[in-house]
Amino acid sequence: MLAFVKYGTGSFEAEVRDIAKPEPKDNEVLLSVAGCGVCGSDLHAYRSSKGYEWVIPPVTLGHEFAGTIVATGRSVRHVKEGDRAAVIGIQGCGHCPVCRSGSTNLCLERQVIGLNMDGGMAAYAVVDAAYLVPIPDSLDPVMGALIEPISVAAHAMRKPVIRPGDRVVVSGPGPIGLFCGLFATSSGARVVMVGAEADAETRLPLARRLGFTTVNVNRDALDATLETAFEGSPPDLWVEASGAPQAFITAIEKVRGGGSLVIVGMYAQSFEWSPTPSVRAGHSVFFSYASISRDYHLALDLIAAGFIDPTQFANVYPLGEAEIAFKAALSGKTIKPVLVP
Ligand SMILES: [Zn+2]
Ligand SMILES: [Zn+2]
Repeated sequence: MLAFVKYGTGSFEAEVRDIAKPEPKDNEVLLSVAGCGVCGSDLHAYRSSKGYEWVIPPVTLGHEFAGTIVATGRSVRHVKEGDRAAVIGIQGCGHCPVCRSGSTNLCLERQVIGLNMDGGMAAYAVVDAAYLVPIPDSLDPVMGALIEPISVAAHAMRKPVIRPGDRVVVSGPGPIGLFCGLFATSSGARVVMVGAEADAETRLPLARRLGFTTVNVNRDALDATLETAFEGSPPDLWVEASGAPQAFITAIEKVRGGGSLVIVGMYAQSFEWSPTPSVRAGHSVFFSYASISRDYHLALDLIAAGFIDPTQFANVYPLGEAEIAFKAALSGKTIKPVLVP
């Protein structure tokens, strides 16, 4: 079968290969993959970025995927052949105190499918049956690839209280930032989406089509835009999804006293931050990482209710063109590439 394999520890050492079709163990299912999204972390693995040394080649990439179950292991009971499901990408050990508290995404022994075990950029993938979420027939299973990134936004947006009329800024108009913005508008908030020059061609235009006020910090005045959009009042909530240190610093400066920040970006470098202004402002700062089962269900609810249309975000590529899709993603020309076997 075809698979996109990270085969070496060097930058860009990944290619489409013909590999053996896997077989499910007792607790696993074999999934015929319908579509698999390309995530920022896949791009880091592709480039062998610093901080991704735990990705041990050879490994089939991809953790954002859905498909149809075509075989089940002996001890699998709750799903059967023909069922369609999305995959929960991060798998905790299941028995440590963190997992028992429900946060399997934060387990110190966690495994990430498609990074430290074979993932979904392939015709077939084996998945632990405990980490499947059934998807309805009304959803195109190719678009099921979007459920994981939507669930990451769902997880982040559960943390702050958002009321109708709240003023919300999101920095970083990638898929997670855009989905966070849609979660905020679904709660009745007004949203300003902040991007930079790299977002000007594809991401900010989509943000405008989704109904957000947008700012390109390299071209537009941020303060003036916020002033107009929020009628002179400071933001109640800032969602930092860009991973740019300056965006984090700006967020802390702008949020009103008693307001909240959600930090969901990944920062490539460390930087200086004085917490004292936030202490004095009584800010609530929530850090959020990945998602758990209930967030996948919330993502499906938001799609079913029409708040999120996955087709607006997906750029579909055949699996054989994985390298083209990765390069397009690296150059910012796509929102969410989805590889279809
Ligand atoms: Zn992802
Ligand atoms: Zn655990």
